[in-house]
Amino acid sequence: MFSVLALATQILANANFATQDTVSSKTSVPLVNVHQEQPQFQNADKSDLAPPPKVRQIRIPGDILIGGVFPVHTKSQSGDEPCGEIAETRGVHRVEAMLYALDQINAQNDFSSRNGRDPQIRKQGQKKSVAAVVGGSYSSVSVQLANLLRLFRIAQVSPASTNADLSDKNRFEYFARTVPSDDYQAMAMVEIAVKFKWSYVSLVYSADEYGELGADAFKKEARKKGICIALEERIQNKQESFTESTNNLVQKLQAEKNVGATVVVLFVGTEYIPELLRHTAEKMHLSSGSKKRIIWLASESWDRNNDKYTAGENRLAVQGAIVLMLASQKVPSFEEYFMSLHPGTEKFERNKWLRELWQIKYKCEFGAPVSSNANRCEDIRQTTEGFKADDKVQFVIDAVYAIAHGLQAMKNVHCPDDAIETSWISRYSRQPEICRAMQNIDGADFYQNYLLKVQFDDVVGKRFHFSAQGDGPASYTIFTYKPKSLDKRRRMLGDEDESQSDYVEIGHWSENNLTIYDEQLWWNANETPVSVCSLPCKVGYRKQLIKDEQCCWACSKCEDFEYLINETHCVACEQGKWPTKDRKACFDLAVAHLKYMRWKSMYSIVPAILAVIGIVSTIFVIVVYVMYNETPVVKASGRELSYILLISMIMCYCMTFVLLAKPNAAVCAIKRTGIGFAFSCLYAAMFVKTNRIARIFNTRTAQRPQFISPISQVVMTGMLAGVQLIGSLIWLYVVPPGWRHHYPTRDQVVLTCNVPDHHFLYSLAYDALLLILCTIYAVKTRKVPENFNETKFIGFSMYTTCVVWLSWIFFFFGTGSDFQIQTTSLCISISMSANVALVCIFSPKLWIILFEKHKNVRKQEGESMLNKSNRSLGNCSSRLCASSIDEPNQYTALLSDSTRRRASRKTSHPTSTSSAQDTFL
Ligand code: GLU
Repeated sequence: MFSVLALATQILANANFATQDTVSSKTSVPLVNVHQEQPQFQNADKSDLAPPPKVRQIRIPGDILIGGVFPVHTKSQSGDEPCGEIAETRGVHRVEAMLYALDQINAQNDFSSRNGRDPQIRKQGQKKSVAAVVGGSYSSVSVQLANLLRLFRIAQVSPASTNADLSDKNRFEYFARTVPSDDYQAMAMVEIAVKFKWSYVSLVYSADEYGELGADAFKKEARKKGICIALEERIQNKQESFTESTNNLVQKLQAEKNVGATVVVLFVGTEYIPELLRHTAEKMHLSSGSKKRIIWLASESWDRNNDKYTAGENRLAVQGAIVLMLASQKVPSFEEYFMSLHPGTEKFERNKWLRELWQIKYKCEFGAPVSSNANRCEDIRQTTEGFKADDKVQFVIDAVYAIAHGLQAMKNVHCPDDAIETSWISRYSRQPEICRAMQNIDGADFYQNYLLKVQFDDVVGKRFHFSAQGDGPASYTIFTYKPKSLDKRRRMLGDEDESQSDYVEIGHWSENNLTIYDEQLWWNANETPVSVCSLPCKVGYRKQLIKDEQCCWACSKCEDFEYLINETHCVACEQGKWPTKDRKACFDLAVAHLKYMRWKSMYSIVPAILAVIGIVSTIFVIVVYVMYNETPVVKASGRELSYILLISMIMCYCMTFVLLAKPNAAVCAIKRTGIGFAFSCLYAAMFVKTNRIARIFNTRTAQRPQFISPISQVVMTGMLAGVQLIGSLIWLYVVPPGWRHHYPTRDQVVLTCNVPDHHFLYSLAYDALLLILCTIYAVKTRKVPENFNETKFIGFSMYTTCVVWLSWIFFFFGTGSDFQIQTTSLCISISMSANVALVCIFSPKLWIILFEKHKNVRKQEGESMLNKSNRSLGNCSSRLCASSIDEPNQYTALLSDSTRRRASRKTSHPTSTSSAQDTFL
């Protein structure tokens, strides 16, 4: 298809059509002329293409003129010279890539060499206008070039300029490029930073269209992703600018700190970078082993094929750099073509910059005599070893092909008959001519209707087309600089292959999709370098932003019951809920950690053991009592009430198990009635006992006091205990038993009965009343010798019980929140109350029954016992003391009377029993 386009080419170099100070003095500018005509060697049209004197150029004859603008030389450092050094990759390789592409296009021409000769311009003196321009490379050049070319409505296709503004078709109506806009590059860089959690970075950019716009795009994207820029350095091509910027950068990496903006994002023109690296290496004393280093995250202007980047100390500064490159492929046929260039060949000689390059690269001389010792350039032959073609060769070739395809399409429309395929006669009878429409191309028509619409499979087999904005596809390859000599891992793997590049591919980015090959990174997964202002807060701490900068913060602790609603705010969990381990939500304590007494816990085991001991002891007493039921001691203590007391005690002990059981309606009902009832039985019985004695001993008349018989005592006890029972049952009716969740502290949900503890305490008020009354009577009757001073022991029991209960109340409210301690203490207190009664009331009797059997006998011994007792009553009441020990007085008579009657009913030996009873009372 290119046969109709390319018959001859002409390249002109150094045409100064960009402003002097920015382009012409620093950039070599070839122009390429493509013509559709029978080949004929011809000089370029001197009228419009003749270069100014001293300007080097490449001219290839042809009919359609295509320009090329490439940075063949670097910028001049001194200012005396118009250009700096020759740039091999970005300059010469790109020029050759364009020539190569044109050669390829021309080679496809059916006309090209019908008679074996090279293409020629057929008509001398014909005026040609530039159809399109390939270039420039640096965005700053492209912008100026575009501004110029738009005046002449000439289409421009850049193979390297990525400045985002160039997509603006209102400003650059004729600009297209085979590379993408830097907006995508900025996105890719930000995604890399996000991936490695680099939230605090420095930014260095060059003071030109490339650097400034790239930096702006990066800042915009970074802001979206919460990345902060610690420092911005804008560098210019001045020594002081580098020194100042590197000083600032290095200062930001304070040696003593683990944090800081270690990552430096670079949007800097290619030529600034080696100098920047040199300054950094010097300032950071990298050669003397300083550990702190900068991690460059560099844009595609980084030239990985430029040896200056890694020369000398620079290599230390570059180490670990992460570099984006536009995704491109090697073009083997171009490399082959380039390798074939050597002095003397036509393709070598047409490009005068190759001579300059040869002299510098191979340190050789042209024209030295064969016999001399000098290194003759003519003898130099290139080898593939160490050859690294420029990364954008593919884009240069794409640009030339895009223009060629556009011209082809345009020609097909405007000059449909002007093709040899359509005219068999013309093909052999006359030389074809380019049609008029193609001689003066309307740039706007060409750009809009043909160039932007091209689609073709490019030199590496990829389908190429422009976006609506005239941009190329956005796809990047990510490399890291990992020199073999410094990379232990690579050496260990035996990767000594010298041909392998020091730049290792670590991933790629396209269409918002970042892929990183972690195994290729120069750090291990858990050793990713940090570039942050503040380290992350520990779990349970919130960030307190410093000066509203989202990347710098201090950490402050949330309350234990709070979770983090976001990184900066703690919020309290609802009642009954508690923060999860990661402090990001709350969970229901009732589901995971519901508290109630567990049998396995010490809080349950200890009271349960005490209760069991109590029950066993009480049963033992009951057994002894039953066994010695008919002995004077048992009888004298009032058997009915004694058994009531003992059973009440067992009830008290059993309450421990009720209290320790998992609360449910039944357990709660028993708790609410049982404890009160057990106590009421206990204290009612004691009260009846003491009250009876008090009444007997208080009787002023000889009249026998009422209700002192055993049956009346039992009835009285039952009535008094019944009051408590009825009260409890009414309470149960009014507030039906059930369970609920109680929240004593924020982190506890306790399963408990549905009545508050203080209500439970109120329910024991009646028991307390009985206890107090009992105590009062015990005090009153403390000196009555009846039944071995039983009231005295009841008194002891009462005082102790009072102390136990008072201490429990203080303990209960003192330990406030711990339900286990509260329950355990309540159990122990109840058991203690029973213990106290058991020990005080029953142990003296048990002692006599078991160990002082001689006292547990009838009359005689009893009398002597009574005498002893009466004698011991030193401060006895006058009434009691007045009575003779030998004769029964009115009180003993009353007491004996009641017991005698009872004894006579139950025993077959009334006489002996009654006398024993008399004796003891
Ligand atoms: N993308 C750079 C710019 O727009 C040029 C890079 C290169 O020439 O490789 O300035």
